[in-house]
Amino acid sequence: MSGFNSDANNQLILALSKGRIFEDTLPLLEAAGITVTENPETSRKLILATNDPNVRVLIVRATDVPTYVQHGAADFGVAGKDVLIEHGGEGLYQPVDLQIAQCRMSVAVKSGFDYEAAVRQGARLRVATKFTQTAREHFAAKGVHVDLIKLYGSMELAPLVGLSDAIVDLVSTGSTLRANNLVEVEEIMDISSRLVVNQAALKLKRARLQPIIEAFERASKARKQG
Ligand code: ADP
Ligand code: MG
Repeated sequence: MSGFNSDANNQLILALSKGRIFEDTLPLLEAAGITVTENPETSRKLILATNDPNVRVLIVRATDVPTYVQHGAADFGVAGKDVLIEHGGEGLYQPVDLQIAQCRMSVAVKSGFDYEAAVRQGARLRVATKFTQTAREHFAAKGVHVDLIKLYGSMELAPLVGLSDAIVDLVSTGSTLRANNLVEVEEIMDISSRLVVNQAALKLKRARLQPIIEAFERASKARKQG
């Protein structure tokens, strides 16, 4: 043992996905005094260093972030509410809504498809989505019968080729929907990303995690007001 810094409870691993979550989390990390010193868009490394030798960042798929944190392979991470609902949130402490990667989960159909009429008539709707849990709950609450078709991406294609009547997908500006001749017909919920923390790590590594959680909280509050 060579002192406090070799203590395993001093090491922190953060799970992030590439793209918008990574980009939007960087300023929050800066607020906590952590600078990621490698760029996941240009490096092929999946474990990135930071200015703090005790803090490393894992680059994983957005949908895998809760799994890494739940099992303690990462101590904490950032994941969208969409992803957390599908995962179930088991074993995860969710202390802060970071107000980043904001968008909404919506129902969209091909332009010209009368969604209201289909719902009114009690027709069985074919719904393609990556978000089967959220979609199932949404339509069950409305009393609409649906056949869910699980997809892993490019949901916009499904109504265009007759695979489904509707999709449940994330929308921000709506330009992807417009580009594919789809219209948003119903908003299901607002989405943003959350800080997730492994429950055991929160206890064992509280001294390291608590200041970071608080810095993230302050930075996201400032962001909300700003
Ligand atoms: P992937 O393509 O692997 O699903 P994304 O970077 O597209 O990864 O999405 C990661 C997370 O970012 C999603 O889980 C969601 O919470 C959020 N997100 C997705 N699409 C948008 C969007 N258009 N605007 C803002 N946030 C989004
Ligand atoms: Mg995407």
